[in-house]
Amino acid sequence: MGKKNIDWSSLGFGYMQTDKRYVSNYKDGAWDEGCLTEDATVAISECAGVLQYAQTCFEGLKAYTTEDGRTVCFRPDLNAQRMFDSAQRLEMPTFPVDRFVDAVVQTVKANIDYVPPYGSGASLYLRPYMFGSSAVIGVKPADEYQFRVFCTPVGPYFKGGAKPIVVKVSDFDRAAPHGTGHIKAGLNYAMSLHAIQTAHREGFAENIYLDPGTRTKIEETGGANIIFVDEDGNLVVPKSDSILPSITRRSLVDVAQTYLGLKVTEREVLLSEVENFKEMGLCGTAAVISPVGKINDHGKEICFSNGMEKMGPVMQKLYDTLTGIQMGRLEAPEGWIKVIE
Ligand SMILES: *Cc1c(COP(=O)(O)O)cnc(C)c1O
Repeated sequence: MGKKNIDWSSLGFGYMQTDKRYVSNYKDGAWDEGCLTEDATVAISECAGVLQYAQTCFEGLKAYTTEDGRTVCFRPDLNAQRMFDSAQRLEMPTFPVDRFVDAVVQTVKANIDYVPPYGSGASLYLRPYMFGSSAVIGVKPADEYQFRVFCTPVGPYFKGGAKPIVVKVSDFDRAAPHGTGHIKAGLNYAMSLHAIQTAHREGFAENIYLDPGTRTKIEETGGANIIFVDEDGNLVVPKSDSILPSITRRSLVDVAQTYLGLKVTEREVLLSEVENFKEMGLCGTAAVISPVGKINDHGKEICFSNGMEKMGPVMQKLYDTLTGIQMGRLEAPEGWIKVIE
């Protein structure tokens, strides 16, 4: 045994089959005890609820090696709770929070040779998910479900430094008021594919979605929350019931307040006031923070003070502090780091 012979730093964000994955099945009103399997395929009814009516939700988190050589995950209990909430909204059975964390730990341990070494910038991406597996033809929840966790090594998100991106204000909507924007449902992504492909064809890296009700307020992008730095160097975070509660964003808010002494305001943010802000970042597990250089609002450009070459100073401080906590270079708040042992 020993680390796989993989060129960690040249990995992208793609799927590579690893040795083991965790599976648990829900039948007759209960989850079975679950186990690890080498079978990377799923066999389900041609009429499964997930295939007909998209009854599925997922999570995403990373395992990585810290400076002192431990293998850890970042706040997996919050992923567990979010998946619990997603399942409830989709009329799926909930998977217990402690069992979710245990399944993640088992999956990492069983694939420990795929956890990239410290300093490579790479990590082991974990994908817990759940879907309706039994046949459903009339519109209703399935009776049987499968919960799985697989993992795949992924490379550093930014190769050669985080360059600011250009984003567009989308003409499509992501999440209706009182809809499913606040849960991590596959259906939110299915309907975003046309919008993101359209943005890419036009030369933009991401879409900013506005609130569909008034189309005046900033919500988020397809897969990342948005944070701003105002003229006074403080953090402004858009608030809406249809924004997905990003664990990275919630952690950055804590870091801003307790490590950096910044003021954080979570409130509705109008598109029309964004030109007053100095910095903008997209936050999520994949990149932690992606700096934004410009917004294109139907031809009108809104430029941030960091320009197109580097992250702004406040985003950089937030990024360095949170990644420092994750990598064990800075002391973490109680409960943030789950050591795999
Ligand atoms: C997963 C996701 C995020 C990021 O959440 P993290 O917990 O920080 O990874 C943001 N927005 C959407 C729509 C998402 O699905």
